Amino acid sequence: MSAAIDIATANPLALVREDLRDFGGYRSARSDRLQGDVWLNANESPWPNLSDREGTLRRYPDPQPQALREALSALYGCAPAQLLAGRGSDEGIDLLVRAVCRPGGDAIVVTTPTFGMYAVSARLHGTRVADVPLREVDGEWRCDFAGVGAAALAQGARLVFLCSPGNPTGALLPSGDISALAQALEGRALVVVDEAYIEFADAPSAVRLIASQPNIVVLRTLSKAHALAAARIGSVIADAGLIEVLRRCQAPYPLPSACTDEALRSLGRDAALQTRTRIATVRSEREALAAALAAIPGVKRAYASRANFVLARFDETQAAFDRLLAAGVVVRDMRALPGLDDALRISIGTPEQNATVLAILRGARA
Ligand code: PMP
Repeated sequence: MSAAIDIATANPLALVREDLRDFGGYRSARSDRLQGDVWLNANESPWPNLSDREGTLRRYPDPQPQALREALSALYGCAPAQLLAGRGSDEGIDLLVRAVCRPGGDAIVVTTPTFGMYAVSARLHGTRVADVPLREVDGEWRCDFAGVGAAALAQGARLVFLCSPGNPTGALLPSGDISALAQALEGRALVVVDEAYIEFADAPSAVRLIASQPNIVVLRTLSKAHALAAARIGSVIADAGLIEVLRRCQAPYPLPSACTDEALRSLGRDAALQTRTRIATVRSEREALAAALAAIPGVKRAYASRANFVLARFDETQAAFDRLLAAGVVVRDMRALPGLDDALRISIGTPEQNATVLAILRGARA
């Protein structure tokens, strides 16, 4: 096989929908980087709204502010050209499905129980969802990587969605297995590693794997560890060519300027230092909560977690859920998910909130 053919098959751009490879997308008023003092090219208001004290909101925002791209790429350890910022990782998932899978065709692979949006985006696009469920071995969740690879090839899947640490399992996936899967699927599928919770795992990101395995795509977010869920800032990190294609598929002005400003402030020195402290607290609270839950009669199992939540199985799940709710504590009922018909997912709260959860659940058996 010649070197030229190797490069072509390794290029993740080969996995983009053929009809979108030269798609230019919408050309917004910000697309041409023109210079001027009087801006009359975007049908914006020449005057601010009375409510707009700074007088800055009348202009459309930069679609991909360079300062934000630089700050996020420094945070995640990639080049700015390898990163697309968007409205949460949710938008990244949707963009990937739309850019890679043909409408009404192709397939994705998921590993249930997992985050629901992969299947939702696929379904909205008319794309099939193949499931290779996680396996529970001695109380630990394992991904059947060989099964995922085989299913992707058999189903002609263009995308494989892995979640590490997993939601709702909390389990981290071994990076060697992720690399090997991506290598096996080179030229056939993109392997998307959703790292929404990786900050809580104290483990290296799959971002570093992209250099040797360019069909790996990583999703990151400011919604969890950075405590900015309402700002809706997520990132897709991938091969620069692929990022450029996704950018052309994205809505014209995806990032409200107030959200960009907030994100930049959150990555400043003091806020970033405090974020690290919060993450450390979540980790120690998580270990304490999982251990304490496991010791409560009526809790069948509390899974070890690398994220900011604990998944637990109960003898009487409805009673536990109701008891918590009656005390004003809302946890996530997981019983609709296959294999989790007795499980609740409890996000890590403040130490006081976690103590309340434990007190209620202990009381539930009294
Ligand atoms: N991925 C996973 C695994 C999640 O749990 C969530 C949010 N629940 C998301 C992505 C979406 O996050 P964002 O706020 O960045 O859209």
